[in-house]
Amino acid sequence: MSIAENLQHIKASVPEQVTLVAVSKTKSVSKIMEAYNAGQRIFGENKIQEMVDKEAEMPKDIQWHMIGHVQRNKVKYMAEFVSLIHSIDNFKLLKEIDKQAKKHDRTINCLLQIKIADEDSKFGMTFQEAQDILRSEAFAALNNVAIAGVMGMATFTEDTAQIEQEFKRLKTIFDDLNKLELEGSKLEIISMGMSGDYHTAIDCGSTMIRVGSSIFGERNYG
Ligand SMILES: *Cc1c(COP(=O)(O)O)cnc(C)c1O
Repeated sequence: MSIAENLQHIKASVPEQVTLVAVSKTKSVSKIMEAYNAGQRIFGENKIQEMVDKEAEMPKDIQWHMIGHVQRNKVKYMAEFVSLIHSIDNFKLLKEIDKQAKKHDRTINCLLQIKIADEDSKFGMTFQEAQDILRSEAFAALNNVAIAGVMGMATFTEDTAQIEQEFKRLKTIFDDLNKLELEGSKLEIISMGMSGDYHTAIDCGSTMIRVGSSIFGERNYG
């Protein structure tokens, strides 16, 4: 199937209120343009330099999401245009994003990445760490970042019961963080679900799915 057909197929199987992030990492501009021409406007990349290069070449009404691990010293390259950063896993990173966003007189929306997987390789914080950040004075002093929700990645496994359990945990963490009655902000986004597990994720409360290979085919440099 073509990229346009894949997109159409996914959109038809997903509730309207769920946002689809087309994960375009390693894909060429011409492949991404196929998705763009089929109406897709939100793309996710996991490397800052790659996203910056693509942003420069592509239409300006694209919303670029950073979904990969972020190194603090590279935040400055995307601060002018990035629309949502999914992968905040520590406060120092948030502070740097605030600083760089201020230079461009904008607010950058971010998600707190929560570690739900049973794998050491996955980044993210605990509920406690997320709560401590949201309640801290240091966080309250940041005026150019907004926490819009949470993100999580399930364990890479065939065990759907385990995946479901992990997604449910993220939904519970989201609900519990919202009970903190954060000043002036409400978490709205639960970013969870990829090509292999987005149906499960949606059943567990996902509001934003990040889908790559089901749109563009297997990961490669094509
Ligand atoms: C690559 C990636 C995805 C998309 O994965 P697919 O299995 O290709 O859909 C989603 N989220 C993150 C964080 C990724 O790195």
